[in-house]
Amino acid sequence: MLKIGLTGGIASGKSTVCALFKHYQVPIIDADTIARQLVEPNEEAYAEIIQSFGKGILQKDQTINRSKLRQIIFSDLVAKQALENILHPKIRQQLILKSQQQHGSYIILAIPLLIESNMHDLVDQVLIIDAHPSLQLKRLQHRDGISAEQAQAMLNAQCNREQHLACADDIIDNNHKPACLSKQIERLHQKYIKLSNGCQHSNSNGQ
Ligand code: ATP
Repeated sequence: MLKIGLTGGIASGKSTVCALFKHYQVPIIDADTIARQLVEPNEEAYAEIIQSFGKGILQKDQTINRSKLRQIIFSDLVAKQALENILHPKIRQQLILKSQQQHGSYIILAIPLLIESNMHDLVDQVLIIDAHPSLQLKRLQHRDGISAEQAQAMLNAQCNREQHLACADDIIDNNHKPACLSKQIERLHQKYIKLSNGCQHSNSNGQ
């Protein structure tokens, strides 16, 4: 089965694009959902995070305060590395496991930090969702109700536009109205089906 790694900068439109691929019944595995599940009480990463960050990271209901965690790692590179060391191997493991459980001609692995966390090897093709940084900032501020400075800091914490584009096998241009996405997605859907048929053909020939 062909594996497509879908990624892009913050607020570039990854979720918007995934929602459109779902119309084609394409299985989508979302690394953000996996990350959220991993930090729930009694889940794998929960105890390790408390051990590294202390009980001050817990809310009254004993769940991890994810926004506090985000704030800490924004201003502290060592803490960021510590959190990534806990989470990334576990996310990786889950992505592999969940990929193996899927059926269909191709699947999408939506991995926001695919490039930053070196997960290229988990996918066959990289699909970059591209938006100009000025649009990312505008959409991020509007969606999350944050200041221009906060939005810029979030943008700066990731690979930039050029770094993303340099890794692309395909690019979805999300610099226009959302209505402009459907045709691009239809074209890619057809391409991925063809590619996956090619893979199956090669496999059945023992290549
Ligand atoms: P994150 O990196 O935070 O996970 P994301 O890449 O998944 O974000 P979305 O949540 O899909 O990005 O989009 C960010 C915001 O921009 C959302 O509010 C979405 O509705 C809006 N948006 C996405 N595409 C467009 C577009 N073409 N025109 C206008 N608004 C858009």
